[in-house]
Amino acid sequence: MLAPGATIGILGGGQLGRMLAMAAARLGYRCHIFAPEDDSVAAEVSAEFTNAVWHDRDALARFAKACDVVTYEFENVPVDPLSVIPADKLAPGTRPLEVAQDRVNEKRFVEGLGGRPAPYIAIDHDSELAAGVDRIGTPGILKTRRDGYDGKGQWVITSAADAQGIRIPQSGCVFEGRVSFECEFSVILVRGSDGEVRFWDSTLNTHEGGILSHSELPAPDIVGEQVGQARELARKLAEALGYVGVMTCEFFATGEGPVFNEMAPRVHNSGHWTIEGAVTSQFENHIRAIAGLPLGDTSSVAARVVMDNLIGAEALEVARHLSEPSAHLHLYGKAEARDGRKMGHITRVG
Ligand code: AMP
Repeated sequence: MLAPGATIGILGGGQLGRMLAMAAARLGYRCHIFAPEDDSVAAEVSAEFTNAVWHDRDALARFAKACDVVTYEFENVPVDPLSVIPADKLAPGTRPLEVAQDRVNEKRFVEGLGGRPAPYIAIDHDSELAAGVDRIGTPGILKTRRDGYDGKGQWVITSAADAQGIRIPQSGCVFEGRVSFECEFSVILVRGSDGEVRFWDSTLNTHEGGILSHSELPAPDIVGEQVGQARELARKLAEALGYVGVMTCEFFATGEGPVFNEMAPRVHNSGHWTIEGAVTSQFENHIRAIAGLPLGDTSSVAARVVMDNLIGAEALEVARHLSEPSAHLHLYGKAEARDGRKMGHITRVG
């Protein structure tokens, strides 16, 4: 068990790290952020900041030495340099990163555990694309195998002609059939260092332009019907990875049951509602898990909870957001309200 006053290292400097650091502070811990950007919004609320590139092994080793445990808030942290961090200090470990960083590996891993992803084919070279599209059929989505997030690195292919002229990056792509779904939901779980697993209620998630815009409880009946199967898969994934902390799996609810979309080995935007909408938030339970503390209750505190992301300039209308006294406004302190940038969120409970 990590004693109060201990230092938790967080790889990644964005809003997830910021909310983790705030939860850690409430439990009496100090946080040390490691991030390549010099304007980290997580570092603003943390005791220490190492501003260095991911491949700076010396900086990573010094950072790890200064921390009692290290975690991550970003799934694309390069795995190789993390070898300088003692394995028993990193929670969750590097295996969840290896699986989640490559869409093809991730789908194969999930299939191996009995899960069902969208129909897909790995496309490693330009010359394979036409046959791949033909085999899976259109409409579909071509996604980069690596480094994709929030709908980035994706091309919608509605006919064979759309695929012409697309250059496949060196790290390859995956072509997926478009799933005709009724809605999207996520399963967020926390697994403690003793293997105990708890789940939060699954919200209905709505995306705009590939970016989550809204999560709400209660989710439609179809989510309730499919969440049991989805949770079983998520639990198997967490167990197979020896996972400690909060992990998220996103699903499509379809007429044929839940279809796995992707996993995130970290706290997730579709769990921001848990700060006010659950007895224990995803952020606090992640800290509890990696600190070896008992897990908190994941129950929702109300039947209805709604979380809206504030994307781009809309976040700047602070007076309007606060004109609703019971709404919980969270701003991440980002300097620039660029289009598509997640600037904050609002949660309404009850
Ligand atoms: P991703 O980054 O892969 O999670 O994709 C972002 C969003 O694009 C998802 O949440 C869905 O709304 C949509 N999407 C991605 N893949 C598919 C698919 N195979 N079928 C239908 N919609 C998809």
